[in-house]
Amino acid sequence: MKYDYLIVGAGLFGCVFSHEMKQAGKSCLVIEKRDHIAGNIYTKEQHGIQVHMYGAHIFHTSDREVWDYVNALADFNNYINSPVAVYKGELYNLPFNMNTFHALFGVNTPKEAKQVIAEQIKEAGVTNPQNLEQQAISLAGTTVYEKLVKGYTEKQWGRDCRELPPFIIKRLPLRYTYDNNYFNDRYQGIPVGGYTQIAEKLLADIPVRLGTEYKAFLTETEDTFDKVLYTGMIDEFFEYCYGQLEYRSLRFESEYLPDEDNFQGNAVVNYTEREVPYTRIIEHKHFEFGKGEGTVITREYPAAFTRGNEPYYPVNDEKNGALYRKYEVLAKEQGNILFGGRLGQYKYYDMDKVIRAALDMAAAEKER
Ligand SMILES: Cc1cc2nc3c(=O)[nH]c(=O)nc-3n(C[C@H](O)[C@H](O)[C@H](O)COP(=O)(O)OP(=O)(O)OC[C@H]3O[C@@H](n4cnc5c(N)ncnc54)[C@H](O)[C@@H]3O)c2cc1C
Repeated sequence: MKYDYLIVGAGLFGCVFSHEMKQAGKSCLVIEKRDHIAGNIYTKEQHGIQVHMYGAHIFHTSDREVWDYVNALADFNNYINSPVAVYKGELYNLPFNMNTFHALFGVNTPKEAKQVIAEQIKEAGVTNPQNLEQQAISLAGTTVYEKLVKGYTEKQWGRDCRELPPFIIKRLPLRYTYDNNYFNDRYQGIPVGGYTQIAEKLLADIPVRLGTEYKAFLTETEDTFDKVLYTGMIDEFFEYCYGQLEYRSLRFESEYLPDEDNFQGNAVVNYTEREVPYTRIIEHKHFEFGKGEGTVITREYPAAFTRGNEPYYPVNDEKNGALYRKYEVLAKEQGNILFGGRLGQYKYYDMDKVIRAALDMAAAEKER
């Protein structure tokens, strides 16, 4: 067969791009090395509960066109992400807001909260932060740092905050209203029935080969393609010729609790002390307001990335940024190969940004 496009990776980027090109009359073949489509937004029904198989995914955007796009593919509920933090048995609302400050300091008004935090910042006397600890304290004071930032960040990065560079935390938004909505975006929700249906609808009428890895596929296929969209790791594509880009990984441990109806009362609970080995527990049924028999919970453990496990978070520091730019130059020289998505562009893209980027790439392709 002769196809216009080979799409490598059936994640959100690959799905949106394939759909758009198919709509434009182009023939597409999608290959995916995993045994399922949807990439990291994959959800699977277990005991009547949609389980987010690669970590909690909350859709949020201020891009009206993207919001309309996903709403044409699934029915979104009005879920609002309001995580709770647990520190040594104490409970705090996130993001840092008046509810948090009331629980931490016993203050009731924004003026009182600002005063306590300003005093702590002044007392710490950090003028030129040299590490993440100093940076966080200079932004939010010692109590917020000690109870809510320190342990969580150390677990995420596997290093002491004093050994981490300050730029990791550029801002620590402090919200002086009683508002537990984690995101500032205009639109937010969870697709009722999970995310996988979005990928299924986007790929309807497009041939997909699962369990198919790009390099191996190239050696055996007799099909031809005018162009390739590659959404895997860009450094892997170029056989790490300049070295390996760094990622952070995660390990998920899921558990079905048949006799438990409501384990933690919230979809997302963060554990901010370092001694608890996981960073958060997700209770999936709360994304769809408690449907299902029993409950499924998932503990998330941060993990080092080594070749072979999943590259979840690009490490967007100077060193990796410079390395990525070298690969980007090689990518531009390829001509008939496009690179897209979180791994292909080495960018921490949220879902809405992935859709926007894939739509833009498809629009540019249609113009050619
Ligand atoms: C833990 C976690 C939580 C997140 N939470 C949110 C959230 O709450 N809200 C939000 O908006 N976003 C969230 N995101 C981001 C979201 O997952 C991404 O925006 C989106 O999944 C990226 O889609 P993608 O297609 O770029 O990448 P992916 O989903 O990674 O898809 C790439 C696909 O390519 C396949 N592939 C790679 N290499 C090859 C190869 N050589 N051959 C064949 N196939 C290959 C992979 O198997 C994968 O299926 C989260 C991400 C993570 C990791």
